[in-house]
Amino acid sequence: MDSDCIFCKIVAGELPCEKVFENDHVLAFLDINPTSRGHTLVIPKEHSEGLLSTPAEALLEVASVLPQVAAAAVRATDAAGFNVLQSNGPCAGQVVPHIHFHIVPRHDGDGIGLGFRQTPVVADELARTAAAIRDAL
Ligand code: AMP
Ligand code: ZN
Repeated sequence: MDSDCIFCKIVAGELPCEKVFENDHVLAFLDINPTSRGHTLVIPKEHSEGLLSTPAEALLEVASVLPQVAAAAVRATDAAGFNVLQSNGPCAGQVVPHIHFHIVPRHDGDGIGLGFRQTPVVADELARTAAAIRDAL
C-alpha cells in the first residue's frame, strides 16, 4: 500500500467508494466524476502506477474480470456499448497514480468525445514509425 494514494486508501477501506465488484486482487467502484452513468474504475488492489510497472499477474487478474464488470455496467445502464480507457502519465491525462481502467458506458448520440485527433500520414512515415517500434521491442 502507498499511504499517499487515494485508491490504496479506498482498497484499505480508509476512504469510501461505491463498490460494484471485489475479489482478492481486484476492486471495481464508481468514478465520483462520471463521464456517463455507470462510469466504473477497475483497479488491482496492489499499488502500482501504470501499465509498465504493473506485474503481469495483476494485469491478468484485472483482465479476467474487466469484461464481466463492463457487461454489468452496460446492462445496468441500458447502454449500447462502452469504452475502456487507461491513461499513463500526466501528459496522457493520468491524475491518480494507481493504475486504473475506466469503463465508460455509451449510448448512441451521447456526444462523449475521447479527444483523439487523428491525421493521415504517408505510407513512408508509417513504415519508419513501425520500424522504430519494432526496434524498441
Ligand atoms: P485518471 O484521469 O485516468 O487518472 O482518472 C482518475 C479518475 O479517478 C477520475 O475520473 C476521477 O474522477 C476519479 N476519482 C478520483 N478520486 C476518486 C474517488 N475518491 N472515488 C472515485 N473516483 C475517484
Ligand atoms: Zn495505490
